[in-house]
Amino acid sequence: MTDSVKTLCPYCGVGCGLEVTPPAGSGRATNRDSQGNPIWKVVGDRSHPSSQGMVCVKGATIAESLDKDRLKYPMMRDSLTEPFRRVSWDQALDQITQQIQSVLATQGADAVCMYGSGQFQTEDYYVAQKLIKGCLGTNNFDANSRLCMSSAVAGYIQSLGSDGPPCCYDDLELTDCAFLIGTNTAECHPIVFNRLHKYLKKNTRAKLIVVDPRTTKTAEAATLHLAIKPGTDIDLLNGIAHLLMRWGKFDTFFIDECTTGFTQYAEVIRYYTPEVVARKCGIRIDHLEEAAKYWAESENVLSLWSMGVNQSSEGTAKVCSIINLHLMTGNIGKPGAGPFSLTGQPNAMGGREAGGLSHLLPGYRSIKNAQHRTEIEKLWNLPENRISSFPGRDVWRMITGLETGDVGFLWIAATNPAVSMPDLERTKAALLKSPFTVYQDAYDPTETAAYAHVLLPAAQWGEKTGTMTNSERVVTLCPKFREPLGEAKPDWEIFAEVGRRLGFTEQFNFKTSAEVHREFVQLTHRRPCDMTGLSYERLQQEGPIQWPCSIEELKQTNNSLNNTTPGLFSGLFKGKDEKTKAKRLYTNWKFNTPDGRAKFVAFHAKGLAEIPDAQYPFVLTVGRLYGHWHTMTRTGRIEKINKMHPLPFIEIHPKDAERLGFKEGQLIEVRSRRGKAQFPAMITKAITPGCVFVPMHWGALWADDAEANSLTHPESCPISLEPELKACAVQLVAVTAL
Ligand code: SF4
Repeated sequence: MTDSVKTLCPYCGVGCGLEVTPPAGSGRATNRDSQGNPIWKVVGDRSHPSSQGMVCVKGATIAESLDKDRLKYPMMRDSLTEPFRRVSWDQALDQITQQIQSVLATQGADAVCMYGSGQFQTEDYYVAQKLIKGCLGTNNFDANSRLCMSSAVAGYIQSLGSDGPPCCYDDLELTDCAFLIGTNTAECHPIVFNRLHKYLKKNTRAKLIVVDPRTTKTAEAATLHLAIKPGTDIDLLNGIAHLLMRWGKFDTFFIDECTTGFTQYAEVIRYYTPEVVARKCGIRIDHLEEAAKYWAESENVLSLWSMGVNQSSEGTAKVCSIINLHLMTGNIGKPGAGPFSLTGQPNAMGGREAGGLSHLLPGYRSIKNAQHRTEIEKLWNLPENRISSFPGRDVWRMITGLETGDVGFLWIAATNPAVSMPDLERTKAALLKSPFTVYQDAYDPTETAAYAHVLLPAAQWGEKTGTMTNSERVVTLCPKFREPLGEAKPDWEIFAEVGRRLGFTEQFNFKTSAEVHREFVQLTHRRPCDMTGLSYERLQQEGPIQWPCSIEELKQTNNSLNNTTPGLFSGLFKGKDEKTKAKRLYTNWKFNTPDGRAKFVAFHAKGLAEIPDAQYPFVLTVGRLYGHWHTMTRTGRIEKINKMHPLPFIEIHPKDAERLGFKEGQLIEVRSRRGKAQFPAMITKAITPGCVFVPMHWGALWADDAEANSLTHPESCPISLEPELKACAVQLVAVTAL
């Protein structure tokens, strides 16, 4: 092929459009990577509505990762101490099928688990759900999104009756006040931040509040930076609400007509006086008041958050507390306003749509809902009650199931738990005990491959056709533009082939990913995430499309720019909405709860699960850098990014460094109750005294003894089951004198 192809960046949830041209079609001397492979040319797609032609360093260099260190053939071994041997697909798939049948017969369906990924395309996710939850009858499918945004899912469901971020990126350019909490957007979602930052530079009256214990690049751009102590987010959020209440700055009309639970909420927030909140959060009272004043005086407030909120033992409570502020002030369902979670992965949203967590079913359905299970069983042509009513194992319970021998078969695909899981030494020990692990990925080596009995080569970005949904619900068709390397196959084809070998020929009679997509969108009919109006043909002709996108809407010739059915408040914000073609949820202020009202779900602050003490006096917080992506499976193979971020490090405040006698660059051992790791010191005022920061990207493959997750703990939010990866208690010891 010589023409360029429009597709989506496969890294983060911003979902930037890319235009890819093959090496021979670039019209220039062919660039080659360090292994001699010709490099494809990648530029931003100016026609993509989300990114408007912008890309960050990851998107710009993605082509360099296409050929390097690829897993090309199925491999097997009988035990983890043996080397892998190349086998045929038939041998590998027969072995997998036999293992599943044997475990089903001896231990039952609960002993079979699959751990997938927000890197999947929606079609991969969907076929995996059909195999595990439908055909095998266990809900033991979880994805690495559990570590990333499951608290956002749970919070939306609790407060608004359904998952689904209600906002769109155009809101970044319409807001009077952007409230960024627990998100280093400038580095982790760079193109979202670019759009916001450009707008703020032009509209100096608009405010940017950043809540983060670190002075990140995002915080440097803030009108007001609140460097709260880790774990005090709910204190702050309830404290802002307390002041709004005290000043009478709340939306009585919205509260009365569109919500329930305000009285109980008011009772909770009355304890969060400025004095108490400022002391607990470690901020000045006038700064707290300034934040509340911006909320009070802004016509529209847009909250953005990501892992700093979600990865917490009270993650759902934090999300609900953010949404409470929006309900209190009527800041939802209108331009420039609303609670807006940013997804980490490129298709974590597609995973939510396809039911890719252990408590979900496709089309925003729940495992616990009998009607939802019946609907899916009928559409999948399965016997009644085939789908279990019990939520499956989340990923941490897969790990503990390996420890106890209750998990007999583990299939890991497109994710690298031997770096990304909390309490890494315990995770690795559990993986070593696995009787049979299949690892399906595009790259070799990875840290997790060391724990596998079978390696399956997966086709990666550009080698298969599928769809992905970004944080603002925009679905992009990602076409195949080159052949898979070696014998690699698309993930969905591998799952379907195993399904057929297990006897479910009718259920997996797909010939193309377009057929998978056609079946999937039918299951979204009349759900909040209605995608019935989507098809490959339409996405090809019209480009990326935002949901809700119903078949009924498609049929209307004069469809409105607003997405929701007319209701009590329809047309209220029409004037502003007409500036943009983007769709928001809840523009009619009718929510997905039984009574159509949003719920104030009030929580008191609990704080961190592991509080610093005399033995472990520092709070360690982990995070991401601008260039690297997750566990570096791709970015670790890209020269430019490695030069940008050659090594991990630990940020320490100068006061702490002086007290402990640490010097810049000195090797510091960080110890927690679970493990230890070593990093050179970076002494900086960017971190709050009493806290230290370490990037989470490096695994054993890239930097031995510098794995951040050797230190973290698995305590999780009781509602979302998302682990508190963001904070744990540590001690610091100098390893070398300088
Ligand atoms: Fe890719 Fe995210 Fe960068 Fe956009 S912001 S180019 S989606 S990594």
